[in-house]
Amino acid sequence: MKMLPEKAMIGVLGGGQLGRMAIEAASALGYRCHVFAPDGDAPATDIAAVSTRADYTDTAALTAFANSVDSVICEFENVPVEAMDMLANHVPVCPGGKALRVAQHRLSEKDNARTLGISTPRYAGVKDGASLADALSRFGGGILKTCRMGYDGKGQMRLAADADPLAAIAHLGSDDLILEEIVDFTAEASFLVARDHQGQIAVWPASINQHRGGILHISEAPALADILTPALWDEGKAAVIAMAEDLELTGVLAAEMFITRDGNLLFNEIAPRPHNSFHWTIEGAETSQFSQLIRVAAGLPMGRVNATGRWRMTNILGEDMPLLDTAMAEPGVYIHRYGKAEARTGRKMAHLNQRID
Ligand code: AMP
Repeated sequence: MKMLPEKAMIGVLGGGQLGRMAIEAASALGYRCHVFAPDGDAPATDIAAVSTRADYTDTAALTAFANSVDSVICEFENVPVEAMDMLANHVPVCPGGKALRVAQHRLSEKDNARTLGISTPRYAGVKDGASLADALSRFGGGILKTCRMGYDGKGQMRLAADADPLAAIAHLGSDDLILEEIVDFTAEASFLVARDHQGQIAVWPASINQHRGGILHISEAPALADILTPALWDEGKAAVIAMAEDLELTGVLAAEMFITRDGNLLFNEIAPRPHNSFHWTIEGAETSQFSQLIRVAAGLPMGRVNATGRWRMTNILGEDMPLLDTAMAEPGVYIHRYGKAEARTGRKMAHLNQRID
């Protein structure tokens, strides 16, 4: 695609903090942004040049949006594929319809990974009590997850082999489910790849992640070789490249993987957008995930993705606000607040980036 000139308008689907940080990166490169989101009071809307408050199924609003922008990025992976496909008829889009469609469904992302030769935990699609009972006995229990719309540990439950299948299905309130075997892992790693409209690829150093109550708490990068061995790094890197190519990705795509006790890498899930575990790249990489996404959307050459040291990213949830006050007084801690009014428990309010070497 042709490079967009300064002041061109980049459309952003979704109004959350990922959109906000993408807009900050777009601004540094001289672009303006138009946010399209269903909720008005959103971190991205606050700093956008223009915003539209409408549902993703509102065709008239989407058409007006398409006519007002030069390129589109997506910060929310559950935007309907039809909306992305419609926009793609007008302007270049990130991440593209195929990446979005596969990433929106846990079963299709795992099937897709397997087809590409990427190892996954054992899993089975669950539609009813009989299919769940069968999978529970084969895996000796497992984690039951809704195939769609799950995030931050929501829409999932851990089940023992003798759990009541119908009660579990009723609890999750869906008949589109996946049961995964429980992985005995020593660490969780994530990988991030960028791919531009010409098919050029860049892969950032991997992050090692710690969760708290199902929500990402800390990421440290680049992953140390005693946690992610060079062989596993090669494997993870090859996996994200294979997925980016197969999904005809434009933009960025993150993959979460387990490092098992017996030294294997198992694929968990993908997100075809900037990822919380790579927020350290804002100060910690030559080109951040947000800046790279904007570069791809604007048809600029991609930037280098080397880390500039070792970095720790710490999420600040609603209940962690005192930690943020302390961090304010610490020189060398980079603070990113998302401009959210209400600090509810479990809500991502900000993150801290800090060099640790
Ligand atoms: P997810 O929404 O799939 O990212 O799951 C949230 C968190 O639950 C992961 O980061 C893991 O800590 C844990 N988890 C998810 N799936 C599994 C699994 N199959 N085995 C063990 N732990 C899991």
